Amino acid sequence: MKQITIISGKGGTGKTSIIAALASVAENAVIADCDVDAADLFLVLKPQILFENKYLGGKTAVIDYSKCTNCGICKDLCRFDAINTIGDRITISEFSCDGCELCKRVCPEDAISMIQSDSSRWFISDSRFGPMVYARLGIAEDNSGKLVTVVREEAKKIAKAKNRDFVIIDGPPGIGCPVIASITGVDIAIIVTEPTQSGLHDLKRVVELVNNFSIKPLIILNKFDLNKEMTEVIEKYCKKNDIEIIAWIPFNRIFVDAMVNQQTIVEYNKFSELTNIIQSIWNKIQKYTV
Ligand code: SF4
Ligand code: SF4
Repeated sequence: MKQITIISGKGGTGKTSIIAALASVAENAVIADCDVDAADLFLVLKPQILFENKYLGGKTAVIDYSKCTNCGICKDLCRFDAINTIGDRITISEFSCDGCELCKRVCPEDAISMIQSDSSRWFISDSRFGPMVYARLGIAEDNSGKLVTVVREEAKKIAKAKNRDFVIIDGPPGIGCPVIASITGVDIAIIVTEPTQSGLHDLKRVVELVNNFSIKPLIILNKFDLNKEMTEVIEKYCKKNDIEIIAWIPFNRIFVDAMVNQQTIVEYNKFSELTNIIQSIWNKIQKYTV
């Protein structure tokens, strides 16, 4: 069983549409939506949830006001500016609290305790293109890297149990902890980029990250025809760094129309140029994972 992660340096590159389209041509894959901070693949794939599971995320500090004397020690020491005085009361912001527990340790009245958040969920589901695992991170929840790992592990288990040859992973944007969790140990990392200065900047950062994990990056250049000059710059960068561009996707309204109709671009028009490109990407993925 092979694992393929598709990532992008930033949001808005068309990554999710491309992954949904790949899912519709792959006949033997499990889909893992690891973009847990902004999971949206389910909007297109509309999977039926089979199991809903709680994910125990980070801890947040809370004050027992029957013990607190308002001394302010915790407020002075919190490095995350999560503790403030509101009115005449010391208050902890659950959105800013990092869960470091320092305030709990220094409080002379033992007035602070930590509570475990359980507002995040992960789901095992069935989509029209096969099994899908995805998650929803609770508001202000962190530890998304761990949640990515949970989603990947469950997807792998399902792939093994159902004899699926591939796990297609929708990775989060950027280069942070969740991205690292989504590329660790995969067979291929495909980076979706677009021909803009910021696209190139983000691409370089992601390539560097992927290289650090000794994974060969492959590039999909989306909307390449919108800025031919920048497309050439990216092509030169890839050539110089021995990175293969596996597809050039032109700008096409079908992306938007398909999304509006809650279909993949392949479903929306089976005979379009885009469908051929998606099929050729999938053929290359299969070739590279033999
Ligand atoms: S250190 Fe303890 S007693 Fe002092 S303000 Fe904070 S919670 Fe209240
Ligand atoms: S747990 Fe850490 S981050 Fe949260 S309020 Fe206490 S000191 Fe601040």
